Amino acid sequence: MHKGSCLCAKVHYSIEGELSDFGYCHCNSCRKASGSAHGANSGIARANFKLSDEEDLVREFESSPGKFRAFCSRCGSPLYAYLTKSRDLIRIRLGSLDSHFNKTTKAHTFVSDKACWESIADSVPQFAEWAPREVLIQTGSKQP
Ligand SMILES: [Zn+2]
Ligand SMILES: [Zn+2]
Repeated sequence: MHKGSCLCAKVHYSIEGELSDFGYCHCNSCRKASGSAHGANSGIARANFKLSDEEDLVREFESSPGKFRAFCSRCGSPLYAYLTKSRDLIRIRLGSLDSHFNKTTKAHTFVSDKACWESIADSVPQFAEWAPREVLIQTGSKQP
């Protein structure tokens, strides 16, 4: 149903089933990990995710205890992340998608942490930290 790849196109993946809803996370780690103003990540069961990495380029970085971020070691593109406590779920970096995805963001999260140079100019609800689950369920994240 979905396909994605890294910037150098040596790593590909495919996904069966629909990706979860997503928000724009403005926290410090999402900014560092994405190199941009916010992260945009959608959850999926690992069983529905198929990685094609013939040259064994994917590496994982433990950015905080129990949280691993996977990326292509050739081009540096972030691909997905997961928590060791919920290893069966992964969070896809939506920027790596090549296929059409028709959901739009439900929330701006961790706005209290956003970059001073970023202005949020849309009408999507903003939250200082996590969005409440009535607004957005962030599958596979640390959302309480
Ligand atoms: Zn790559
Ligand atoms: Zn974040």
